[in-house]
Amino acid sequence: MNQDCIFCRIVSGQIPAKTVYEDDRLIAFHDVSPQAPVHVLLIPRAHISTLLETTDDDASLLGELQHRAVEIARALGLDKTGFRLVTNCLEDAGQSVFHIHLHLLGGRKFSWPPG
Ligand code: 5GP
Ligand code: ZN
Repeated sequence: MNQDCIFCRIVSGQIPAKTVYEDDRLIAFHDVSPQAPVHVLLIPRAHISTLLETTDDDASLLGELQHRAVEIARALGLDKTGFRLVTNCLEDAGQSVFHIHLHLLGGRKFSWPPG
């Protein structure tokens, strides 16, 4: 728990969030500033600041994040139309919250290459 971290404060319940899934390792909730009709963030309960901080021990956790994102996408009907999973890492990618998270985006078409 990092008191200065917004997502740790969501994990601890100090900041409310519209939760769509939780278990002992992960939480998923709607982004406060959605960039698509579906914009869900999946985070580990444990504080890890960037993907670069993950270790061999986090491999299963990273797999769980992606697997759960697919299950949430399916539950929200995105298996019909598609979706995008994104993790931003450091400045060039535009990371703004330094507690790792996977963006699940869907409900509209996305361009490629990304902006
Ligand atoms: P990043 O820019 O780090 O890839 O993504 C951070 C995301 O967290 C942004 O999409 C932003 O809208 C979202 N976000 C920031 N603060 C909060 C918050 O307090 N609650 C929720 N639900 N989302 C947040
Ligand atoms: Zn945190």
